[in-house]
Amino acid sequence: MSLIVQKYGGTSVANPERIRNVARRVARYKAMGHQIVVVVSAMSGETNKLIALAKEVMAEPDPRELDVMISTGEQVTIGMTALALMELGIKAKSYTGTQVKILTDDSHTKARILDIDEHNIKQDLNDGYVCVVAGFQGVDEFGNITTLGRGGSDTTGVALAAALKADECQIYTDVDGVYTTDPRVVPEARRLDKITFEEMLELASQGSKVLQIRSVEFAGKYKVKLRVLSSFEDEGDGTLITFEEENKDSEMEEPIISGIAFNRDEAKIIVLGVPDKPGIAYQILGPIADANIDVDMIIQNTGADGTTDFTFTVHKNEMGKALAVLRDKVQNHINAREISGDDKIAKVSVVGIGMRSHVGIASQMFRTLAEEGINIQMISTSEIKIAVVIDEKYMELAVRVLHKAFELEES
Ligand code: ADP
Ligand code: ASP
Ligand code: MG
Repeated sequence: MSLIVQKYGGTSVANPERIRNVARRVARYKAMGHQIVVVVSAMSGETNKLIALAKEVMAEPDPRELDVMISTGEQVTIGMTALALMELGIKAKSYTGTQVKILTDDSHTKARILDIDEHNIKQDLNDGYVCVVAGFQGVDEFGNITTLGRGGSDTTGVALAAALKADECQIYTDVDGVYTTDPRVVPEARRLDKITFEEMLELASQGSKVLQIRSVEFAGKYKVKLRVLSSFEDEGDGTLITFEEENKDSEMEEPIISGIAFNRDEAKIIVLGVPDKPGIAYQILGPIADANIDVDMIIQNTGADGTTDFTFTVHKNEMGKALAVLRDKVQNHINAREISGDDKIAKVSVVGIGMRSHVGIASQMFRTLAEEGINIQMISTSEIKIAVVIDEKYMELAVRVLHKAFELEES
């Protein structure tokens, strides 16, 4: 007997028939003697609808109240999934994040899980129940409802698997695994039987939304066996996230590049003509951090005439807030010539652990983009990734030509 956490995303619970389908799969696993915890997202489109509703009342919704609203999508699907299971004669019980007590910090709309009280769920599992838990939501120490950021049900699934010491966490979605890139953008993309945890972490952090980055972080920290599978197919092993050491023994030849990620969700903030002196990065980014705005890429140019330009990227949703912070709190001290924002950018990243032992990947990437006349605005690298910021209108083209240049297609 194994304990398995199965997470189903929005398209997999999009209507009553699909929820019945989820219940049928759970029933099959239950019949094999396994204990099952199901984590569900809201029906596809629901979270977007709720956000739009909030914005109709307040343009920049108060985050606490927004969380109260957007957590309701999942409350509907846990109830429906429990009902569908009962209809199959299976004992089932639904739980909201608060009812489980998925304790988070108080960063509304992007809260982090601090602790999970697994006691009641364990008890229910031992009593023969399937527990159906709402993804995406938690509760802070004061009892406020919080949410975990878009795609956060993945993180609920993996964190629960870690807390329950589950044998496996299965992420059921609308594709049958992790591909070399988003198969909706490049139809020739290839499914990977397995991918190392490090590569998955990098792909997720660079924008592959098939897994939310924090879910991959949890899997790494607690060594959760994590698999991505299709909820529409009964066959197939999907993609297993492996830990590098295991992979090394079995794989004679590793690909240099495993995948390409892209992200349209960032915006660039440009601070022109700031004094080129110690402390300037801190003066600019300190107040940004104090405002709880995450910064991704950062570039500071070499100075000329005693001044320099400073550019960084933030989430598109936070561009307005970041500009306001700079104009209100920073401009007076640094006297920048100009502060502006650009949200018509995209980030494209190639990822692969083979990069560690191969040179020339960056130049191949830059040559491929140059041949298409695509201008690179920013570059950042890590040991296993090269990421570039380009004009968003060239994003899909860039992904397609890079996918071809690195020979990632189905052979
Ligand atoms: P869910 O609602 O099940 O959580 P998501 O829409 O969040 O599903 O994630 C699945 C989607 O991720 C796929 O439909 C696909 O378009 C996209 N995706 C992006 N990059 C990849 C990738 N490398 N492999 C597979 N899917 C990817
Ligand atoms: N319903 C949430 C969202 O749309 C969480 C999730 O689907 O994982 O982002
Ligand atoms: Mg998702």
